[in-house]
Formats: sequence, structure tokens, C-alpha cells
Amino acid sequence: SWSSSDSVISTDSAWEPAEPGSPYRVVLLGASGVGKTAFANIFAGAADSMDSDDCELYEMCEKEIEVDGEPATLTLLDTWDTDNEWAQEHCMQTGDAYLLLYSVTDRASFLRASELRITLRRFRPAQHTPIILVGNKCDLVRRREVSVSEGRACAAVFDCKFIETSAAMQHNIWEAFHGMVRQLRLRRDSKEA
Ligand code: GDP
Repeated sequence: SWSSSDSVISTDSAWEPAEPGSPYRVVLLGASGVGKTAFANIFAGAADSMDSDDCELYEMCEKEIEVDGEPATLTLLDTWDTDNEWAQEHCMQTGDAYLLLYSVTDRASFLRASELRITLRRFRPAQHTPIILVGNKCDLVRRREVSVSEGRACAAVFDCKFIETSAAMQHNIWEAFHGMVRQLRLRRDSKEA
């Protein structure tokens, strides 16, 4: 079962929800090679194809998942890796929530995540959009360049939640998606209250 995870830090604020019942659009952001496609494949239920070349198949995938006994429909968008600036801007504007990925084995991708967080703030000035900073590839212990505490500190500065994952080990991937849904619901509920 998908139990709640303590590794996702809570913050809370008001948020403008999507239409009730409509899918939540979750956008994958992050430098090339951090594991966005691997995330999308696991979400799409094709974990075995992690090393195959047909990953582009899952640029967009809609799926219903159950979180805390309640169904939620997520549309996952993995369209960030493109040279097209317009497409990237669209990506920034289109999400109800964002998974901001870096690889714990790649400090440059960690810095890139900070830049992307700042850019997101420009496109999402209200700052109430749920964002989870995701440190992926935590299975590669010996190649680690970014510590857990650095990741956590960065998330605190940028006012978002934080989780470390391994797409290769399928560790914490669903916790990330479930944490996202919980954040989206919190904002929906505080809006309704
Ligand atoms: P993207 O460019 O962000 O879409 O990154 P990919 O999903 O294509 O991943 C880049 C490479 O890292 C691929 O060879 C993946 O198999 C590998 N990879 C992704 N996630 C993990 C992980 O958690 N652990 C390990 N060891 N490798 C990973």
C-alpha cells in the first residue's frame, strides 16, 4: 500500500485549484540525464523499459492513482528536454504542480534545479504552486556529489518539499507522486474551506 512518507517536508499555503474532478497536471523539470524519463516510465507502468530507447513514448501520460483511499487523476508531462524555448515556457506555465529533479551524482544538475526554481517563480509569481525538489539516483552511493542535507536546505530556501529517490531501485517514486497529490488536495481543501 502507499503509506505516507516522512521524507516529504510539509509546507502549506493557499492555491488556485484546477476544476474539481479534472486531472492534475504534473510537470517534470530538470537537467538532461537526471532521470525524468525513468520517472515517467515508472509512472506509466513501464519500469522495465528504463534502458530502452523508446522512452519518448511517455512524454505525456494520464493515470488514476489511489492516495489515502481516494482516487486522483494525474497527467504527467515529460516535455522539458527540448531546445525549443517556447515549449519550455509553456511547460513552466502549464503545470498544477512540479517535480523538480536533479541527480545526487551531478552537482551541476543541483544548481540547475535552483535556477529552474527561480524561473518557475517568474512564471508562477503567486508561489502557491506545489513543487517537490527531487534528488534522484540515491542508489549511486559512491558517486554522490550532493548530500541529503544540502538538498533539504535548498528545498527550505525555495519553500518546497524535498525527497530523495532512486528510479533504478524504484525507491520513493510513488511517495513523490503521492506527496504531490496530498499537497494539491491541501490547497484544494484550504480553498474550499
Ligand atoms: P532524463 O534525461 O532526465 O529523462 O533522464 P533519463 O531518465 O533518460 O535517465 C538518464 C540515465 O540515468 C539513464 O541511463 C537512466 O537509466 C539512468 N537513471 C535514471 N534514474 C536513475 C536512478 O535512480 N539510478 C541510477 N543508477 N540510474 C538512473
